[in-house]
Amino acid sequence: MLKLIERANNFKENIAIKSGGYSYTYQALLNRSESIAVELLAGKKDLEEERVTFLVDPSFKYTSIQWGIWRAGGIAVPLCVKHPLASIEYVLDDTKTSILIYGKEYKSLIAPLLNRKDIRFIKAESFENIFGILPDIEIERRAMIIYTSGTTGAPKGVVSTHKNIETQITGLTNFWEWTENDHILNVLPMHHVHGIINVLSCALWSGACCEFLIKFSPKDIFEIFKKQEINLFMAVPTIYFKLIAYWDNLSTLEQNKVSLALKNFRLMVSGSAALPLSVHEKWKRISHHVLLERYGMTEMGMAISNPYKGDRIPGSIGKPLKGITVRLVDENNKIVEPGEAGEIQVKGDNVFKEYWNKPEATKDTFTSNGWFKTGDIAVLDNGNYKILGRNSIDIIKSGGYKISALEIEEVLRLHQDIKDCAVIGLPDEEWGETIAASLVLKNANLSFDNLNYWLKGKLPGYKIPRKYIVQSDLPRNVMGKVTKNELKNLFNVDIL
Ligand code: ATP
Ligand code: MG
Repeated sequence: MLKLIERANNFKENIAIKSGGYSYTYQALLNRSESIAVELLAGKKDLEEERVTFLVDPSFKYTSIQWGIWRAGGIAVPLCVKHPLASIEYVLDDTKTSILIYGKEYKSLIAPLLNRKDIRFIKAESFENIFGILPDIEIERRAMIIYTSGTTGAPKGVVSTHKNIETQITGLTNFWEWTENDHILNVLPMHHVHGIINVLSCALWSGACCEFLIKFSPKDIFEIFKKQEINLFMAVPTIYFKLIAYWDNLSTLEQNKVSLALKNFRLMVSGSAALPLSVHEKWKRISHHVLLERYGMTEMGMAISNPYKGDRIPGSIGKPLKGITVRLVDENNKIVEPGEAGEIQVKGDNVFKEYWNKPEATKDTFTSNGWFKTGDIAVLDNGNYKILGRNSIDIIKSGGYKISALEIEEVLRLHQDIKDCAVIGLPDEEWGETIAASLVLKNANLSFDNLNYWLKGKLPGYKIPRKYIVQSDLPRNVMGKVTKNELKNLFNVDIL
């Protein structure tokens, strides 16, 4: 039996999941997922890596379906509940799904598909309580296809084996010292590695409780925090940004209540995108916690993390997790000199097996001796890694320099009239690329001339943006990541 599921027998009476106002024990999860597995099998001995796609809100239902698919020997393919029908169809066709399980709340969305003969449709609410013999699952088998966030292009289906997943889970549960007394609140989407591995699977591996909040609402999150049952929280920077904005508008009395409740947390984590220093600082003032920033990808789970115990360094992602080997290399895959920037490459059992249906992309993403090329550029500073950005969109090649967009964004955010920003490189005949910035303003009267004068004291000339646009909000995907490729199209007109 898969270890994650076998371990649940040690915690049968513990609460595994809280969702929709109900609590469910590990025993309930074991029973329910067995029933689902038996029904999915429909008389077969093993699903033998058939793809089972599911479109269900984050909940006990979601969790038991994921376990049910694994226990039947299928590959679990979680769908994004915010995606339009076309994206859902893309995943169904790309994975050649044989079963789609859908929650009743998504019936009208998928109604146009229901006459497809190649897919067996099952209502998530229709599973009976039936029990039976389940197949033995080899740990090397494919377990899951998670699509990447689509920040740099079309999302790619990342295939992870049970061994990859187990390695990702154990790395984190050991390092962040999970125990069965933990209680985490999940507000993240459940079609992404952050929610699936770091939150849900780590909780279940540990015998802890995972509470789901289906609809993101700062008010509801703070109400739950105030009950003082939750002791762990993990989110993306945009979520912390929104919580801070909501907290700022509370009365002093309410602010104090929230801050008091936050004091008892054991751990708060940020990741999936660079954590702005301003958010790091402000959250520390509100919660008395130094956010733990870590770095990971759909393709490998988490790889580098600030320490659980010890100093967490703002602007840094820390050190490689135990059992994961990391190196920084130049364009020729040669290890860079200390202090020089290079691409992060990773080796370990955490690293995914392949991109689904994309043998060329899989081949291109590994070096000839098996290193996974992340495409992220970093530098080592006193033994800690600092992310400079993605090679494809955040590293601006201008006049022979390689300039980190993230570094410029940090400086721009220090300006009192700037609420948020994104920096990109635009094609330029003379310089290769020229620096452009999209700004979200606190004060609409900001003059770009004044801004550039202010920047001159803070950045060398070649790092100062040449073009600006102002937006009411930055374009982001469902993981809250700025989709910079979209931004590029908005710079057709010279504004400065
Ligand atoms: P796609 O691959 O489809 O373009 P994506 O890379 O955003 O989308 P994910 O796997 O969700 O898909 O995200 C992984 C990426 O997120 C990493 O490669 C890295 O660029 C970024 N990332 C994760 N954690 C951090 C962090 N702490 N700081 C900076 N960037 C981070
Ligand atoms: Mg990626």
